Amino acid sequence: MCVVGARPRVVRTGVDLVRARRAGPAGVARRRAVRLDALVGHARARSGFYERLYRGLGGDPVELAALPPVSKPDLMASFDEWVSDPAVTRAGVEAFTADPARLGSLFLGGYFACRSSGTTGQPGLFLHDQAACAVYEAMSLRIDLQWLSPGQWWALLRGRVRWAAVVGAGGHFAGAGWMELQRRRDPVRRRAYRVFPLEQPLRELVAALNAFQPVILSGYPSALDILAAEQRAGRLRVHPVVVELAGESIDDVGREHIATSLGGALHDAYSASECLVMAVDCDHGWLHVNADWVVLEPVQADHTPTPPGIASHTVLLTNLANHVQPLIRYDLGDSVLARAGPCPCGSPFPAIRVQGRRDDVLHLTTADGRTVTLPPLAVGSVLDQPPGVLRSQLVQTGDRSLLLGLDLLPETAEDAVWQEATARLTAYLSAQGATDISVTKACEAPQRSATSGKFRQVIARPPSPT
Ligand SMILES: [Zn+2]
Repeated sequence: MCVVGARPRVVRTGVDLVRARRAGPAGVARRRAVRLDALVGHARARSGFYERLYRGLGGDPVELAALPPVSKPDLMASFDEWVSDPAVTRAGVEAFTADPARLGSLFLGGYFACRSSGTTGQPGLFLHDQAACAVYEAMSLRIDLQWLSPGQWWALLRGRVRWAAVVGAGGHFAGAGWMELQRRRDPVRRRAYRVFPLEQPLRELVAALNAFQPVILSGYPSALDILAAEQRAGRLRVHPVVVELAGESIDDVGREHIATSLGGALHDAYSASECLVMAVDCDHGWLHVNADWVVLEPVQADHTPTPPGIASHTVLLTNLANHVQPLIRYDLGDSVLARAGPCPCGSPFPAIRVQGRRDDVLHLTTADGRTVTLPPLAVGSVLDQPPGVLRSQLVQTGDRSLLLGLDLLPETAEDAVWQEATARLTAYLSAQGATDISVTKACEAPQRSATSGKFRQVIARPPSPT
C-alpha cells in the first residue's frame, strides 16, 4: 500500500483504476475483455509454449474457459520457451536470483524477478515487466482509497509513512524484493520503507521494530501472530495505524489475536509471486478481486467451475497485466470460495475468501525447556534456498526433532544439496535459539495430504495414517 512519489505511468494507471471502479461491473468487464484479448494474442505470437499449446484452438474472440489450464511444473520445465522475451533465459534468471546483492534491482534492467515455492512447494521463477509493475504500484492507490479514512491518512503522514515489512528476506522473494525495489525508486521511500527479515532472532526483530516505530506493519499472519504475542508480553511496543496481512490465510481466532494486540486497522490482501496484488479486503470480511487486471476462477480438481458458496479444489489465475511471462489459467493451488451475489459493501469487484496456504507454525522446545516459535513461511524460505531443490517438506516428529524431505532436480549432486539444505536449516534454527534440534533426512520424497490432496511444506505434527 501507499503510493509515495509515484511515476507518471503509475499515476495514469491509477486514474484508470479509479475510473474502472466508478464504471461498475460493466466497465470492469469491458477492460478485462480487452486486456485478455491482448494477453492471449501476445502469448500466441511471442511465447513458443503457448503457441504450441493453443495450436488448433479457435481464434477471436477469446473464450477463457476454452483455453487449457497450465501448471507451474509444466511452465518451469519449458521456461525459455514460455517467456516472450528471447533475451530472458532460465539460467540467467537463476543466476540473478541467486545473488543477494541484486535484491531490489531489475533483471536485464527492466524486469522485477522473484522466486517462490507457493502452495505447491515447487520453486518457481517469476518475472514482471514494467507495465505490470506500474499496475501493482497503482493498485496501492486503490487499496489506500478503500482502506484509509481521512484521519488515518493524517496519522500516516504524521508518522512519515514508516512502513515495516516483516517478510522472508533470505533470497529473492516477492515481498522483500518488491520493498527493496520501491526503496530504490526515490529517497522518500528509501527512508520510509524497510524490510525486517523474519529469519533473524525474534529478540532482535522486536528490538528493531521498537526502534523503527512503523505506522504501517505488513507481513505473513503467522509472523504477525508471533509479534502480537510479543506485544501482549510487553516486549514489543509499536503503534501501527494499519496492519496488513498477506501471503497466508488465517483463521478468525488468529486474526482477532493480531487485531487486539497490535492495534491499528487490520486488513487482508491476497497476493502471490505470480501476481503481486490480486485482491484486497473490505469491511465485510471479503476479499475483492481486482478483476480489471486479474481473473481468478475457482475450479474443481478436474478444472470444471466450482459454484459460488463452495470452497474450490484450486484456483486458476490469469494475470492480465504481465506480458513477459504470460500466466493464463495458471493453477495457483489455493482453495477459494466465491461469494454468491454482490457484497453489502457495494464493491463492483467479485468477492472471495481464500482457504489455502495452511502451513503450520512450528513450536520447538529447547533442552532448557524454552519454546521457540517459527513461522512457516520463514522456515519455507530457508528450505527453498539451496539450488537444485525441486520441492521440500519439513515434518515435526517430536519436541526437538524434524524430518526433512527433498525432491531434487535431475542431475543434481544429491549429497551436496542435502548437506547445504541441512546446514542452512540448522544455522537458521540456531539463530532462533533452537540449538539442539535434530534434523533427519526423510527416506520418502515430500508427500501430499492423503485427505485434501494439498501439499504442505511445513507440518507441525506427522500426518495421521490413513
Ligand atoms: Zn465487500
